[in-house]
Amino acid sequence: MAKVFNCKDFGGVCNWKGRADTREELLRKIAKHGAVKHNMKDMSEAMLAKIAATIRDERKELNNSRK
Ligand SMILES: [Zn+2]
Repeated sequence: MAKVFNCKDFGGVCNWKGRADTREELLRKIAKHGAVKHNMKDMSEAMLAKIAATIRDERKELNNSRK
């Protein structure tokens, strides 16, 4: 199942959305986006944990938007 990440869910005003087939790939995309757009060059363990907590399965995302 594909994984999705909405940067907005992370507390910002950024509309970037990431999507990947695996959690690992998505984390890489998020890290790159964070470095480029948010100047987050060093991801701490705590930061990664927060990011991981906001990653969702794509199917859940679709269900939520239908409510
Ligand atoms: Zn962002």
